[in-house]
Amino acid sequence: MANSGSHRQHKFSARYVPFSPNDPSDEEYSLDDVIYRSRDGKLLDVQHDMDALKEFDGQYWRNLFDSRFGKTAWPYGSGVWSKKEWVLPEIEDSDIVSFFEGNSNLFWAERFGKEVLHMHDLWVKQCGISHTGSFKDLGMTVLVSQVNRLRKMGKPIVAVGCASTGDTSAALSAYCVAVGIPAIVFLPANKISLAQLVQPIANGALVLSLNTDFDGCMRVVKEVTSKLPIYLANSLNSLRLEGQKTAAIEICQQFDWKAPDWVIVPGGNLGNIYAFYKGFYMCKELGLTECMPRLVCAQAANANPLYLYYQSGWKDYKSVKAKATYASAIQIGDPVSIDRAVYALKSCNGIVEEATEEELMDAAALADQRGMLTCPHTGVALAALIKLRKKGIISATHRTVVVSTAHGLKFTQSKIAYHSGMISDFTCKFANPPIEVNADVESVMGVLKEKLPLA
Ligand SMILES: *Cc1c(COP(=O)(O)O)cnc(C)c1O
Repeated sequence: MANSGSHRQHKFSARYVPFSPNDPSDEEYSLDDVIYRSRDGKLLDVQHDMDALKEFDGQYWRNLFDSRFGKTAWPYGSGVWSKKEWVLPEIEDSDIVSFFEGNSNLFWAERFGKEVLHMHDLWVKQCGISHTGSFKDLGMTVLVSQVNRLRKMGKPIVAVGCASTGDTSAALSAYCVAVGIPAIVFLPANKISLAQLVQPIANGALVLSLNTDFDGCMRVVKEVTSKLPIYLANSLNSLRLEGQKTAAIEICQQFDWKAPDWVIVPGGNLGNIYAFYKGFYMCKELGLTECMPRLVCAQAANANPLYLYYQSGWKDYKSVKAKATYASAIQIGDPVSIDRAVYALKSCNGIVEEATEEELMDAAALADQRGMLTCPHTGVALAALIKLRKKGIISATHRTVVVSTAHGLKFTQSKIAYHSGMISDFTCKFANPPIEVNADVESVMGVLKEKLPLA
């Protein structure tokens, strides 16, 4: 019987290596180094000692992870840290900063699946039901825990900073304030939702509102963090992806360790599509599951450099100037993790799809009217699914998981705009505006007689 202490004596380890899967080098760094890129500027990847992990079989890991699911033993009650050996094996439990994130529910989207898509095995992984309302919590617990460890070791880190389209800054601020590390967030002025802006403000972060877009904030934060002892928390930082990947492991776990056929993830900076790939890959490689799902990265048509690259047959990559999109967390034209995403998609026979503003808002409304409350990014993923069903690529019997990345309540402004028909670019087909009625029974009865299927 597995228990969390049974392999205490065993030495699992991880290190940074340049992200270069097809051309591995000897270059490597300790996770206790403060470093974001390799000598020649490549992204880094956290590489686990797979041989050490493979000394235990799939059944061992399944039992171990299942034994920790949803309990309170520190830190394993977290969906991320219940997979600690696969995430940051060497960190002390006492250095971990966690809100017991993860363990999010997998919702059977029965009515939406049947009515809109004619499919019966559609699931939505509700990653947005989380401490700060988005799946960014999964990665931030890992990054802030490691920074906490580095500070205790005496490394000169005075604060942690990030550029953000909203959710990263909310997560960073919450995890930092929980352990008393100063957080600095660089936000594009007027490009994030009020619910996103209020979080770092309330959590006491230093909030810098810059008159530019996300890509502009990113350029500034990179320079500032190279000049001052501020730790860079953007998803360029490979630590976060180690936490994000646990959502994929959890999906397998929730299906009793069977990988689904398809997983659809909305993509902006493109760290997450790689993180999901890595989670599914580790499950298969370490014998917990038998196969890999095919991944779909769903982009907003207004910020679609990966989609255009995919359409060119992976021949012609250009960053784009991202245009405004309701899916504001993925309004990114120059994604830092482009190489990671391309590797992930090629390795699992993946697909890239896109959704226009009308398509993503209509898909979100259709889903909301069948039991969900979706954010616009989830709308992008649902719209992509609708298209892939129409094209016959995803079939009626395929088990499909849509990753819902943020809570719908973070995006009330765009929902209100849609339902009051205040969007001039398209018709808002499924709008459900409130009806103003005089406060007397006769007027109310008049409306009810018109609206209800009364005999
Ligand atoms: C960050 C984020 C994404 C996209 O993740 P990337 O790694 O940037 O591709 C999607 N949806 C929401 C709500 C996010 O916050």
